[in-house]
Amino acid sequence: MIAGKASVLRVVNRGVVLGLIRAMQPISRSQIAKLSGLNPSTVSDVASALLREDLIYERIGDAIGPGRTPIDLYLKCDGHFVGAIEIGASLSRVAVADICGNLKSYSSLPTDKSNPPQTLSRCAEKLLALSNSLGIDPPRTIGVSISGVVDPGNARLVVSPNLQWQNVCVGDILRDMIPLAENVVAGDTVKAAALAEMLFGNNVTDLSNFFFLSIGESVGAGIIIDGRVVLGDHYASGELSHMAIYENGLPCKCGVRGCWDAYISDPAISSRYTTALGEPIGPDSHVGIGEIILRASTGDEVASSVIKQTGHYIGVGIATIMKALDPQCVVIDGAIADAWELIHPEIMNVLGERPLPGADNFVDVFPVSKSNKECLKGPVALAIQGVFDGYKIMEASPWKTLR
Ligand SMILES: [Zn+2]
Repeated sequence: MIAGKASVLRVVNRGVVLGLIRAMQPISRSQIAKLSGLNPSTVSDVASALLREDLIYERIGDAIGPGRTPIDLYLKCDGHFVGAIEIGASLSRVAVADICGNLKSYSSLPTDKSNPPQTLSRCAEKLLALSNSLGIDPPRTIGVSISGVVDPGNARLVVSPNLQWQNVCVGDILRDMIPLAENVVAGDTVKAAALAEMLFGNNVTDLSNFFFLSIGESVGAGIIIDGRVVLGDHYASGELSHMAIYENGLPCKCGVRGCWDAYISDPAISSRYTTALGEPIGPDSHVGIGEIILRASTGDEVASSVIKQTGHYIGVGIATIMKALDPQCVVIDGAIADAWELIHPEIMNVLGERPLPGADNFVDVFPVSKSNKECLKGPVALAIQGVFDGYKIMEASPWKTLR
């Protein structure tokens, strides 16, 4: 058992050191020891192992005093590659990325909703073809995002209401096709996007405690505490569509009244806009969220007012959630975030009226980082988390140590 504990400790230390190099590069061994609290000889051992794995490289840094020239460590972006698969409702996307998160090659294919194993097998074939065209081995680590409840430990989709899939052993199917893929990291699409915001986002430099709100056809969230995605006991945390914000409020598609979904989801915004215009609701009268935002930007007062109301309703939900989490910030993803100048003041008004007791400042609210709007950032983040294994099990994230 002692050997088991020692190997867990090695993984944790490796994750801490790799995480600090990724976030702070260039960084010396002594800086890593200081920031992480690890013993300098442990840092040295881990750095040597990472150099042997070709995950990092070293370069002589600028002199910091007479006779003192540090050796800086850097992450070797093009030394290792990961696979990324995003299963969408109609289209699935596949990519190879380097371990800094840059996409190297990309492809897509239709999702066959009637046949989950076949869709995943075809994604694996695409991944093999992409690796082949890049002249590299098939990736050892693959991140897979699917909208739904996912058990990441077993890389198994429990259920996806969107796809109407259940109990799909994603990891087993992909490993059958790609025997070299020893590490398949599966996760829910929104939770993966939250992880991408932490790893690649540029809103806040030391992001480790935040609430990631995704607004689209429904409402989902990723909760990150101390640098780790909160999964929940049944892997179903963050399913906020049907959180009640008003008792006896608007009717929701779930049959109950007053759910958040009935106020802020894209279909809810469209329906409120059509109602406000006074047009009969029917298939021809549907105006999508993108068009409403466009109309608001060209002087449509009704569109503008509907979007501002949405900002208010987003604020009402966030004001409650921030009291449970006390986050550093809230990040909002989805088409509605494109109307940021209209929704942000409304959100902040509500948060101002319902502040968190004891907090000196209002919680900051940001739109999702621009770079993370690119597709596949979520599964790339899952894969990179797989490479930087220690994130999952360490006591606190390196960013926490820095504050
Ligand atoms: Zn509902």
